[in-house]
Formats: sequence, C-alpha cells, structure tokens
Amino acid sequence: MDEPVMEGQDNGSAVHPTGLLPDQIAARFGMDKPFRGKQIFRWIVKGARSFEDMTDLPSTERERLTVLSPRLFSSEIVETLADGDGSSKIKIRLNDGAAIEAVLLADHEGRLTACLSTQVGCPMACSFCKTGTLGFLRNLRVDEIIEQYLLLAALGRKPSNVVFMGMGEPLLNLKALRPAIQILTDPDGFNLSTRKITISTCGLVPGIMSLADEGPHVRLAISLTAATDELRDTLMPVNRRWNLAALKKALLYYQGKTGDRISLEAAIMGGVNSGVEGARAMAAWIHPLKVQVNVILWNPVEELPYRQPTREEMASFETELERLGVNAVRRAKRGRGVGGACGQLGDTLMDSQR
Ligand code: SF4
Repeated sequence: MDEPVMEGQDNGSAVHPTGLLPDQIAARFGMDKPFRGKQIFRWIVKGARSFEDMTDLPSTERERLTVLSPRLFSSEIVETLADGDGSSKIKIRLNDGAAIEAVLLADHEGRLTACLSTQVGCPMACSFCKTGTLGFLRNLRVDEIIEQYLLLAALGRKPSNVVFMGMGEPLLNLKALRPAIQILTDPDGFNLSTRKITISTCGLVPGIMSLADEGPHVRLAISLTAATDELRDTLMPVNRRWNLAALKKALLYYQGKTGDRISLEAAIMGGVNSGVEGARAMAAWIHPLKVQVNVILWNPVEELPYRQPTREEMASFETELERLGVNAVRRAKRGRGVGGACGQLGDTLMDSQR
C-alpha cells in the first residue's frame, strides 16, 4: 500500500429520514413542533416503511412529508438467503444501483447479531477475503447503514448485537459510522448498549487513534491474522503502511484511554498461518496487551488460493496459544451455508437486476 489510504466519498445524495436523529428530522422537514421529529424517529425504529404508516401524525402532515420525501427508505432487499443454522444473508440494492450484503447471525442461545457493511466493496484488499477481491466503489451513507439493521430486524426479531464486520473497512467511513452508532444507541431509538456493538478493523492506525480520542466507545476487534510483518505484509496490504509495531503502539494507546479488552481475529488458512511458529509469534506480539484471540477457521471462497486448515493444524495452533497463556477461543462458523460468514461477502458491487 504505497498511496495514503483516503476516506472514500458516498454517492452524494441526501440522507433519507432513516439516517437522521429526531432533531435532524424536525429540522429537515421544517417542523414547528419539534416532538414530531421524535415521533417519526420512533416509527422508523418500530419498522414503519412509509410516512403513511405513522398513524398518530395528522393526515395532512403525512401527506406533506410524503411529498417532501416520497420514499422513507433509500434501499431495498433484492434477495434473502436463509441458512439452516438460523442465520440469513440479505442482498440489498441501493438507490444508485450499487449492491451490498448484510447478515443476521443466530447463536446457540438464540441471540441475534446484525453484521453490517460500511462500504460498497473495500479498498483494503486483504488476500483471504472475498470482498477484498472486488475493489471499492464508495462509502455508505448513515441511512444505508441503519437500513441494513432495519431490513434484518424485519425478518423477525430485532438483533441485540451489531458487528461492523460486513463489506468494507469501517474506520474509512467514520463520517457515517459515528452517526449510525448514535442512532443505534439512542434511548428513544434502538437503544442498543455500546457493549453490544463491535467495530472490526484490519488495523487502520489513524482510525484506531481517532476512536481512542473521540469515540464512540464500543468494542474493538482487529483482524490480525499473522503476527510477523513478513507474513502479514503478504496477506494484508495495510501492514505495509502501518506495520505490527505501529499497530501495537496504537492499540496500547487505545487500551490506555479506554481500559477495554480488544479482540484479535485470526482467520487460519491451512499451511499459510496455521503453524505453531505463527502461534508463538502471536503470543509474543500480544504482550502486554489485554486481548482475546478469536481463532477462526478460514471460510472457503472458491476463487481464492487458500485451503481450510486441517483439524490437526487447528488443534496444534490453539494448543500452542493456550500453552503460552493466551486467552483464545474458537469462533463458531455461523452463516457459512449462505456465504455470509467472515470474509465471504460480496458477489458483485452493482445489482444486475436494476
Ligand atoms: S477483511 Fe475487511 S478490510 Fe480486509 S478486504 Fe475484507 S472487508 Fe476489507
């Protein structure tokens, strides 16, 4: 990565009401009664799909709003794929024809997690990730992020957790990510706890520093994958810009400011980063960070030149981490049946059905 990583632009059109807080809604629609903004906000959270659904607004007001903003949502589902494990993947068409995906992950306790995208494609080009092979089209706007959550909630129940681990690098789109988290945690809105929201990054040092200094104070996950610069350089181009030493310095700063434990994600590919020497390098790099390592069996993507690790490779990697005192857990393979597991998102960046 020789060029500086720049924040991308969104498609430039106005944010739909789904991406606005109550006072912003009132201001956008010139409301002389500010409580109307809160009323509309609450209707959106409850699942309203048009102003006509908002039955406690006077009919003249509903008509006026519909003229001003004929479509409450800017995006729509074009396909829903359900996995046998209770997870679902939705393909979403945005109003400029771009396509993204979002995933509802169900765990054994019946807890639902919404895995949301922040960009159309991704510029970070991690070699083991399908989204990374697609290239980058644009950033998502705040309404396009919130609508993923609303569309997933409409499949059944409201997800209690949110992970920004879908398409894109969230820290390249802090402009939309910050207001989206504000909406998701607003007590009059979805009222999610900040402890139930996770931002996952490939290791963008300026973004980590910005989170440490300015928040939001949610959970942080780092896609580490390998703990030697030699290997990480080949798997994750971001490492050529901010190497492991720079990443660790940023994480120590973040931890010093927040006191939070950080999750390190390690997608294990057979014969690539599955050896015990990789586990040893990881254990050595981690110290003195307070972390949990999530060991993930790499999810197969046909067009990528990797294989899954064998059972023996996984066992020896995990045993070595454990022997060296690392807090490591194996992450369950949810959503894999619909291509919705980690690193599997993104068939295309444009919706061909448009
Ligand atoms: S792993 Fe994340 S940051 Fe890397 S290419 Fe995939 S979506 Fe982008």
